[in-house]
Amino acid sequence: MQPNTQATFVGIMLVSLTLVGALVLMRRVGHSAPPASSAAPLAVVRDARPLMGTIWEITVATHEKSRQAVAAVMRDAFKEIERVENLLSDWRKGTELNQVNTHAGVQPVAVSEETFKVVERAYHFSEVSEGAFDITFNALWGVWDFNKKPPTLPDPEEIKERLPLINYRRLALNPKERTIFLKEQGMKIGLGGIAKGYTVDRVCALLERNGLKNYLVVGGGDMRVSGSRGKSPWRLAVRHPRKEGYLYLLDVTNIAVSTSGDYERYFILNGQRYHHIIDPKTGYPARGVSSVTVINPRACSMDADAMSTAVFVLGVEKGLRLLRQEKMEGIIVDENLRSYLTDGLKVDRTAQIPTVRLKESP
Ligand code: ADP
Ligand code: MG
Repeated sequence: MQPNTQATFVGIMLVSLTLVGALVLMRRVGHSAPPASSAAPLAVVRDARPLMGTIWEITVATHEKSRQAVAAVMRDAFKEIERVENLLSDWRKGTELNQVNTHAGVQPVAVSEETFKVVERAYHFSEVSEGAFDITFNALWGVWDFNKKPPTLPDPEEIKERLPLINYRRLALNPKERTIFLKEQGMKIGLGGIAKGYTVDRVCALLERNGLKNYLVVGGGDMRVSGSRGKSPWRLAVRHPRKEGYLYLLDVTNIAVSTSGDYERYFILNGQRYHHIIDPKTGYPARGVSSVTVINPRACSMDADAMSTAVFVLGVEKGLRLLRQEKMEGIIVDENLRSYLTDGLKVDRTAQIPTVRLKESP
């Protein structure tokens, strides 16, 4: 790590505290714990970078490897994030998805195995959520601008015009030829609701290939935890959607967690909150929920990511049903800040902050 990493990192942490949905509570930053009696001392190495429009944090705990060796692996991990960002971008000219979109209504486009795999998975979640998550939601590209100052609402006519172009059923995937075809001109696919989760999985695979088993990888609201931080567990928390602080601590490991919140990218106009999770039925931000945290016991972050977006759009009742169907756990916080938990979770309310665990550990 660079000599000034510590100072930079603290800055990034402060930014990320306000950005991410499920927050990682760290005891101390980047220091080694006292040595275990006989084994080599525990090294805890962490680094953070802004990529894919969010903050990425990787923390590794190891008794076996030197800090330098871990730092080298982590540099490769950040390179991997950049690679996937370039691969799966839909708006950068020349990317595979950009080609698919510019050939909408014209002809199928052949893509790499990797892109095809993520698109297939996004299609799967479009199907099981009956279009609450819709890989073709990008037809609304440019309609909603959450960075504009002062904020303005889109023209309702424009939303009405584009809405029929959101329809994953008009997307043809041909696994044999590995081609993707959008059947109508103006249709667009985008992986904004699943790409970060997939990238978390890539980073974890890279860490594992390098013999690292105890880690915490966080890309905005998507994360995976594995093993422990020496003798202590990794600690995650679900953020309060409307103020500083946490609603729940998560005492979990070897799982993937994804949070979608209406506080991540939004503006408020005439007392109404407009955020970045869009209901494909209306073309407007989904109503009724303020945050969804999905826990995937099978530790696939890609699936958890798509599910948190899908469940957010579906709302409490249908969202809980989909979680059960896909065998994932979750916490849905509605717009009145009431929480709904799936049956596989238990809560210890005697703790200072209610602490959530899986009834059956994976
Ligand atoms: P974040 O990107 O903040 O982690 P999510 O995982 O919930 O949040 O994904 C939100 C992103 O997913 C949006 O920024 C957009 O790119 C995309 N998206 C929004 N609505 C939908 C939808 N209904 N179906 C699929 N993707 C969506
Ligand atoms: Mg998501």
